Amino acid sequence: MISNFSLKERNTFGFDSQAELADEITSADQLPALVQYIQEKQLAWRILGGGSNAILPAQLPGITLLMNILGQEITNSDETHTYLSVGAGVQWHAFVRWTIEQDFPGLENLALIPGTVGAAPIQNIGAYGVEVGQYIDSVQAFDVQTQAFVTLTQEACRFAYRDSYFKHHPQRLIVTKVVFKLPKAWTPQLQYAELANHLSASNLAPSPQNIFAAVCAIRKQKLPDPKDLGNVGSFFHNPIVSNAQYQSIAAQFPGLVSYPDAEGKRKLAAGWLIDQCGFKGQRFGAVGVYEKQALVFVNHSNGTAQDILHLAKQIENAVLDQFGVQLQIEPTIF
Ligand code: NAP
Repeated sequence: MISNFSLKERNTFGFDSQAELADEITSADQLPALVQYIQEKQLAWRILGGGSNAILPAQLPGITLLMNILGQEITNSDETHTYLSVGAGVQWHAFVRWTIEQDFPGLENLALIPGTVGAAPIQNIGAYGVEVGQYIDSVQAFDVQTQAFVTLTQEACRFAYRDSYFKHHPQRLIVTKVVFKLPKAWTPQLQYAELANHLSASNLAPSPQNIFAAVCAIRKQKLPDPKDLGNVGSFFHNPIVSNAQYQSIAAQFPGLVSYPDAEGKRKLAAGWLIDQCGFKGQRFGAVGVYEKQALVFVNHSNGTAQDILHLAKQIENAVLDQFGVQLQIEPTIF
């Protein structure tokens, strides 16, 4: 356990944040004693994975657990599926690259998403028409309330659009391992025009390797590398509105970018709404809105959580005024 531990290098916004106490979790076996200690001392606590979906304050009281359980193995392979068991601290992109190299396709659309494997089911990460929940067989976790290890099936995880059981039960489950179930029958997921166009423009067959490379290339063009410019990817969820509300906004704003959602409602592109309000590429002191993608906020120099949340509020208000739509922040505010 380390006191006054700097988290500046452990959050992709690059905010200067100090944990009162920090401890690295390299094995699930550490958790029972550690959780008992936290409860005895009545410490505030939280888990930090890659820090790529986190807004950290200057001081984090209590204990911050740095998830670093590694390891990935093939646990089963039958006629239809390959099962992979992966530690919660494994870097997501490195894992996806490994699956492609091993010829276990399925996750290629989710290439280059920052963060850890353990964080992937929490938010049910998604990109280019694929959500990780589709490929999760089960999640292993330590239940802080009952002090026991539990296994949640895919059904128990209640995956939905950027949502899961875990999000609705914060401070309860510490994810230690994720078991993936990748089907051996593979079909490319090319419903997103940008991805399909990228492949056809380069005259490339839609193989898992080519899709993986295309997703990496597109993301590199549009999203800032946190090493160069601090960011947490999309800052707001894409709002889902009723068809009536969609019709009314579309009548006023004919260029509105939207897509039907799985439940028959309408998903609006939050980046387009923000762009229309004039924020794209704008700088507000130390922070700002990325010039190539209005849904991404960036830390230009020594920005803080307060700076980002202030900017977020301004943008939320502007979008609410102009479109009557309330945006919801995607990353976790610690
Ligand atoms: P984009 O292509 O500019 O499209 C804007 C939005 O429209 C996206 O957010 C996407 O929603 C939606 N969209 C586009 N084509 C669609 C289709 N055929 N069917 C349904 N919805 C469609 O988006 P982008 O910002 O470059 O991102 C591309 C993909 O990477 C998206 O899936 C995005 O979610 C993902 N991504 C996620 C993060 C993150 O931090 N969570 C960061 C960057 C990119 P969806 O977001 O619902 O897919």
